Amino acid sequence: MKLPLVFYPNPKLSEASVKVDDISGVQKLCSDMIDTMEHEKGIGISAVQVGKSVRCAIISKDADESLEDHLIIINPKIFSASKEMVEEEEGCLSIPEVFGMVNRHKKIKVRYTDSSGQEQKLKATNLFARVLQHEIDHMDGVLIIDRVSEITKGKLDV
Ligand SMILES: [Zn+2]
Repeated sequence: MKLPLVFYPNPKLSEASVKVDDISGVQKLCSDMIDTMEHEKGIGISAVQVGKSVRCAIISKDADESLEDHLIIINPKIFSASKEMVEEEEGCLSIPEVFGMVNRHKKIKVRYTDSSGQEQKLKATNLFARVLQHEIDHMDGVLIIDRVSEITKGKLDV
């Protein structure tokens, strides 16, 4: 089921999300987030963007050729990040039509819980690493407009 998105400048987007303790309690939410992401043609979505401030996100399988399906990440933690950074144009479903240059780590390693409650680790590079950093930022209440060096398309009406 598609859920309504939360848009900037809703203050909810600036709040940190809480850790998920009960994985079974977010199964339906994750499935609804996948429907919402697909409908909105996003490459990733965090729970806060559908109004639920819990540390859970979906990364689209389009983010990396290694992904066979959309990836559900719960309580993710970046435990290693390359010194090398890449600056590229980025957007956000919660800030429609605004794009800006955002500097991200080129490579990261992430620890997370999957949708069956198993602890997992992954390595991500380039776009995959970018989307993960973007979604984990959402869990900390950080948006691209907090990180952009320059807005390249659109403008913020605040
Ligand atoms: Zn976003």
